[in-house]
Amino acid sequence: MIVAALGSCASPGSHPTTGVDDDTNSAVLPLQLDLPPRFEAWRKPLLQEWATMNQRFPAVAARWPRDSALELPKFRVVVPENSEAAYAFYRIAGLEGDPSVPRTFPGLGLAVVPLPRNDALLADLSLPMKTWMHGFRHECAHLLSLDRPGLRAAPGWFQEGFAELWCPSNAGESGALTELSQAWPYWGNMHLWWSTAKDAPVEAQYTYSAGLVAMALATDAGPSPWPNLQRDQWASHAELQFTGLRGRHADWDVAAGRYLLATRPGQHVDLDLPKLWDGRQPLQLHMQIGRSPGKSEAGLVLFGSGVSETRIRLRYGLGGGFAAYVEEGETAGYEAFALPNERDQLGVARNATLRMDGTLLHVEMLDFERTFDLEKLNLQLPLRIRMVVRDGAFLLHTK
Ligand SMILES: [Zn+2]
Repeated sequence: MIVAALGSCASPGSHPTTGVDDDTNSAVLPLQLDLPPRFEAWRKPLLQEWATMNQRFPAVAARWPRDSALELPKFRVVVPENSEAAYAFYRIAGLEGDPSVPRTFPGLGLAVVPLPRNDALLADLSLPMKTWMHGFRHECAHLLSLDRPGLRAAPGWFQEGFAELWCPSNAGESGALTELSQAWPYWGNMHLWWSTAKDAPVEAQYTYSAGLVAMALATDAGPSPWPNLQRDQWASHAELQFTGLRGRHADWDVAAGRYLLATRPGQHVDLDLPKLWDGRQPLQLHMQIGRSPGKSEAGLVLFGSGVSETRIRLRYGLGGGFAAYVEEGETAGYEAFALPNERDQLGVARNATLRMDGTLLHVEMLDFERTFDLEKLNLQLPLRIRMVVRDGAFLLHTK
């Protein structure tokens, strides 16, 4: 079953129906947006996003008319700067649930969408990270559903799937009811990579629900298209090797070769870069770890194109330490950090270079150098590069 695991976002309950209105009024509803001071630059784009959703939602949700007789609370979105601030807000406001994930409280007209961490690498962004923006839109979709009794009468999994379905940032003019993103890093169709729900990450369960809702909406034009769906069938291909994004949060600009990962405390995020490295030109890696509190550790893992289980890990620590070593099969390898340059401060940006010389891969950073014979390791070019971070924020620029 998929539904049991969809609990990280609260589903709206039901209101009694007292009268039904049409959708001619698509004015933008007022929204109180509480942002941490350091992220004030996001106010304008977030309110613009809210306005765009207000304009699109009537078309997307037309089969469930608004009930103008309902007295809605004033809408408010609170953005705690990290999990700790989210816990504090829940405690003061008397809210229940896991504060570290986004959640909507229908009776209060309130959504809480916490940042993974208050980090300069995030605060430097002119727009929120893509996956965080997706979560913001998901909760806004719940808020916009509150005066549509027909939609709120849907089972929780359907409301979750619907909110998820129409909030990708590449949504078309009519919302995202056209198609989910099928492209790297596969965050719109993640469930297709696992043959059973049981083994799949929690994000895959969201894309599965969204896919089901898309199917239901396409095959049944009525106001309750959910009863006939077979939800417990995970109609997927055979197990594929997933090469996209695992965990939250991430931001990317493929054209610029720029990638940013940020985790909640103690969590892990992996991202397989979209381009393989064929070794013909050296690859410059500009790396920086954020300074927000945590035992940050980040780095890259290099995989060969063949079936080999061998991989090369480049380990990069908050103190600027660097290590590069081979890992085999299930065994996680380990090599202590080379001493960082003492003149550098925590979180300073560093450059590493990958360079091929015959079958030899050279990994260089400052005066650190390691050489790996790819032929002896049975690693074939081109190499797949996975970016990893635990308990921190990690910025990578490739050139
Ligand atoms: Zn939700």
